[in-house]
Amino acid sequence: MRNDMMTRRQLLGIVGALSAPGDEIVVPLRLLVDRKVKWSPEQVESFRKDLWAQAVGNLLSCGVRLQVVEGKGEVERPPEREPVISGLEWGSLNFVATNRIPMHWDGGRSLCGVTTLYRGHHLCMVALDLAHGNRVPFVAVNTCLHELLHALLNDIFEDRPSGAKGQMREARVEYVATKLWLFGDGREIREGARSYVQRLADQRRRMSASG
Ligand SMILES: [Zn+2]
Repeated sequence: MRNDMMTRRQLLGIVGALSAPGDEIVVPLRLLVDRKVKWSPEQVESFRKDLWAQAVGNLLSCGVRLQVVEGKGEVERPPEREPVISGLEWGSLNFVATNRIPMHWDGGRSLCGVTTLYRGHHLCMVALDLAHGNRVPFVAVNTCLHELLHALLNDIFEDRPSGAKGQMREARVEYVATKLWLFGDGREIREGARSYVQRLADQRRRMSASG
């Protein structure tokens, strides 16, 4: 009897070591599918099954787990003003799937996505009319992964730079994403994500302290 228990304990120890839960970086994320858009069921299903699942799986392969809570929210687009987005949460990365990036941010560039601090909230937004999965290495990686990396690599805290600096930042995200996608190398992502989740936790603490 006693021997059996020892064995069981040892076994649990081995299983624990293999899955190494302490090593996983958990990112709290709120997922919102814009309720203002008249979606076809296929479009939302293909977002979840293809684009989103691929991005989540890519990140998980380097030990970064998105802890997803589904929320309800929508994107209002008042003319010539910043969009009004509801359903966002403090202390989480808010990921909004909509059809097109609001004109105020897009400026006619037909962007697949944006990542920014929006009234203090951490926000990634993707345009499902244009978004795509991992397509061409270094040039066209999964749109969801691309935007998530702008947060995880802490670009989100800088104003979107223009010109050469902005292009460098885009190239870096594509490079890092491609290394993860094709070679399973997620070292930079883990490093960035570790400090990023710390900043999310700081925000959560600050907001709950201020009531
Ligand atoms: Zn980008």
